Amino acid sequence: MIPILKTKNELKAFRSKLLGSVGMVPTMGALHEGHLSLMGQSTLENDNTIVSIFVNPLQFSANEDLDSYPQRLLTDTELCESRGVCAIFAPTKDSMYSKNHQTTVVNFDLDQLYCGKYRPDHFKGVLTVVAKLLLLTRPDSAYFGLKDRQQFHLIHKMADDLDFGINIIGCPIIREKSGLAMSSRNEYMSDSQKENSIHLFKTLTTMKEAIEGGNFDTAQIILSAKESLTKSSAFKEIQYLEIVDTKSLLPVEVINQNVIILIAAFMGETRLIDNIEVCVPSNPAS
Ligand code: AMP
Repeated sequence: MIPILKTKNELKAFRSKLLGSVGMVPTMGALHEGHLSLMGQSTLENDNTIVSIFVNPLQFSANEDLDSYPQRLLTDTELCESRGVCAIFAPTKDSMYSKNHQTTVVNFDLDQLYCGKYRPDHFKGVLTVVAKLLLLTRPDSAYFGLKDRQQFHLIHKMADDLDFGINIIGCPIIREKSGLAMSSRNEYMSDSQKENSIHLFKTLTTMKEAIEGGNFDTAQIILSAKESLTKSSAFKEIQYLEIVDTKSLLPVEVINQNVIILIAAFMGETRLIDNIEVCVPSNPAS
């Protein structure tokens, strides 16, 4: 069995003995094919891959699923081993954060938009834990899923702004055959909710096709997508549906550059997020 490192000192000692390049994959566990694809890319590109499994309390609000978040370290360890990972870092909350922890990492521009608007302090928690994990592990490259697009953007910006000197690599979204983006939280849903959830990706695909077909009217595309999503499925609460610039992640009014469509919506009690990139044909009005 590969080592499960429980403390920062164990991680540091293990890391200091590694030869060659190191890739890191931070996760909260309950691993699925989405996580495994990140490990696959890391093991392909590096001599060593370390996976962290840590359900980070700092990124959950009081009313969220911190206590019920799925945890299965044994199965996760077997999966990591089968993918060529060389160690797991699975610290406890107390070994990760000292009682006197006072410092956080904040992005002042983007962390109140989209997910940040509905999950106050979420990205502060994410950036803080990712900064700690990266500084402790000192990988050459760290691998993140583009499923959490805003998170990826903020982590990339943090590493750039704060001169981490670590390659931040974005990996493609892995989906069920139905199109539903894989997520550890999908297991909260019943079979019929899962079936209904495919409308999220269908909506993104329809919007993408509209843009590719030459419709550049953001407001109209969003309005009709919201209407059809709420009519055709059990998605009653759409938290946000935005068309944003690929580089800045800021909303665009008229589409004349490549964009990403971002969505978050509740299926019952389960909050789902997804996104899709659209390469934009030239807009004659721009
Ligand atoms: P989590 O355990 O949910 O914090 O996710 C750990 C990492 O796996 C993050 O970088 C996620 O973006 C990534 N990830 C989660 N689901 C997927 C997916 N369906 N496809 C690709 N990456 C994913």
